[in-house]
Amino acid sequence: MTYEVVIGVEVHAQLRTRSKMFCGCATTFGRPPNSQTCPVCLGLPGALPVVNRAAVEMAVRAGLALNCTIGSRNRFARKNYFYPDLPKGYQISQYESPICEHGWIEVVSGTGKKRVRIRRAHLEEDAGKNVHDTGTTGSRVDLNRAGTPLLEIVTEPDLRSADEAVSYLKGLRDILMYLEVCDGNMEEGSFRCEPNLSLRPQGRQEFGTKVELKNINSFRFVKDAIEYEVKRQTKVLNEGGKIQQETRLWNLDRGETAVMRSKEEAHDYRYFPDPDLLPLDLEKEWIESYRATVPELPGNRTNRFVSEYGLPESDAAMLTASKGIADYFERTVRLFDHPKTVSNWVMGELTREVRQSGGSFETSPVSPERLVSLLNMVESGTVSLKAAREIFPDLFTSGKSAEQIVEERGLTQVSDEETLEKIVEDVLERHPAQASQFKEGKQQVLGFLVGQVMKASAGKANPGKVNELLKRKLSV
Ligand code: ADP
Ligand code: MG
Ligand code: ZN
Repeated sequence: MTYEVVIGVEVHAQLRTRSKMFCGCATTFGRPPNSQTCPVCLGLPGALPVVNRAAVEMAVRAGLALNCTIGSRNRFARKNYFYPDLPKGYQISQYESPICEHGWIEVVSGTGKKRVRIRRAHLEEDAGKNVHDTGTTGSRVDLNRAGTPLLEIVTEPDLRSADEAVSYLKGLRDILMYLEVCDGNMEEGSFRCEPNLSLRPQGRQEFGTKVELKNINSFRFVKDAIEYEVKRQTKVLNEGGKIQQETRLWNLDRGETAVMRSKEEAHDYRYFPDPDLLPLDLEKEWIESYRATVPELPGNRTNRFVSEYGLPESDAAMLTASKGIADYFERTVRLFDHPKTVSNWVMGELTREVRQSGGSFETSPVSPERLVSLLNMVESGTVSLKAAREIFPDLFTSGKSAEQIVEERGLTQVSDEETLEKIVEDVLERHPAQASQFKEGKQQVLGFLVGQVMKASAGKANPGKVNELLKRKLSV
C-alpha cells in the first residue's frame, strides 16, 4: 500500500523585543541564571502584567506579511498546567481570538509553487528553563526566559512531504528575519518547529491519526525526523496496526523518534480569559498603518531581481535567501552597473569568504565600495580576472586596498598600447614564419603569437588587448 504524507506545522518564533511580554525585564540570551527576572515574571502574588506594545506591533507586521487578517479584539487567556519552569501555574496565551488568522505563504514544492494556509498566529509568553547538568545535586530553574514574547504560528495540514515542510519553514523563517521580528536562531531556540504528521492511503480524503514531533532544532533534523516517522508509520499500517495519537521526541543520537506522551496523558489546559488583562482592541487604521512598514519579502524580491537585473532565476533565489546578501548585492549594483558580474562575485568569492570567517554580509570587511574598486580594476584591464580572484581572500582579511595588493604582488596588468605595441612588434620580428602563415589565412597561429607576447611580458600583458593588437598588425 502506498500512503500520502500529511503535515501541518506549529512554529514558536521568539519576538525580538528588548523587554518581556508582560514586564520590563530584558530578553538577552545567555545571561547568568535568574538575573533577568522581576515579581511579574517570577509569578509573585499580586504582581500585574502589562502588555508589551512592541510585541503587539511585531505580531501585526508578521501577520500582515503572512497575508493574515488581524483581529481587532484580542483577548489573552490562561493556559493552566503545572511544571517547575512555569511559576504562575499558567501561561498567558491567546485561545479564542488570536491576533492573526487565515493567512498563507507561497512555498516551493516538487511540483512548482503552492500556497500553504496559515490557520492562526497568536501571542504568548515563553516558560523558563529547567537545568539538569549543574554539577550539583538536583535540578535548578532559570527564569530568564520566562515571559519572553513568542508568536506561535500554526498551518493547516497542507504540506505533503518532508521537503515541502522544510521549504515552508525556511520561507517562514526568511520572512520573519526580513521583518526583523525574529532572529531565526534555531540553536538558541528563537525559532522552534513542531511538525504534526499523519499518513493516509493514496487517494483517500479523510486524514489519518497524527503524531506531533518535538525536539527538532535544525532544518536537517526536520527532514530526518519526518522521513523516519513516515517509515515508522508506514510499517505500523502495513502490519495492520493503528497509529496512536501521541507526541514523540526526535532523538538525534539514535536517529529515531520515541514516545514522549500519549493522547491520554495530554493536559486539559482549562483555558479561560485572563482577568488581569483587559481585551486589547486594535483600531483598523492603526493596523493598516503597519502595512507600509512591511518590507519587500523574499519571494517578491526574487522575482524583481529576475525582471529588474535580468539575472537567472537561480542567481536571484540565492541572492535573496537572506536580507543581508540581497542588500549587499543591490548596494553593489548601484555602484557598478553590471548585475551578472556582481552576482558572480557575491555568490562566489564573497560568499565563500563570509562563510569561512563565520561573519555576515552586513559586517563583511569587503564593503560594496571595496568590492567595486576591485571590479573597476578588472573592467579597466588593470588586473586580470584571474588575478582579481586570487587576491580576493587577501582583500577580505588584510584590510589593504585592492590597488595596494595588486601593486605589492606585481599583478598590475599591462594594457598600455604603446608598451604592448613594442612587445608585439618584437615578437612578430622574431617569428616571421608564423606571421606570414597568419596572413595567408592560418588562424590557429594567433594563439601561438599571443602566447609569445604573454611570455615576453612575464604574463602581465592584457590578453584581450594583445589579441586586438596582433590582429591589427597582421591585417595590414
Ligand atoms: P492539537 O489540538 O492536537 O494541537 P490542532 O488541530 O491544533 O491539533 O493542529 C495542530 C497542527 O497539526 C496544525 O498545524 C494542523 O494543521 C496539524 N494537523 C491537524 N490534523 C492533522 C493530521 N491529521 N495530519 C497531519 N497534521 C495535522
Ligand atoms: Mg496544538
Ligand atoms: Zn520580569
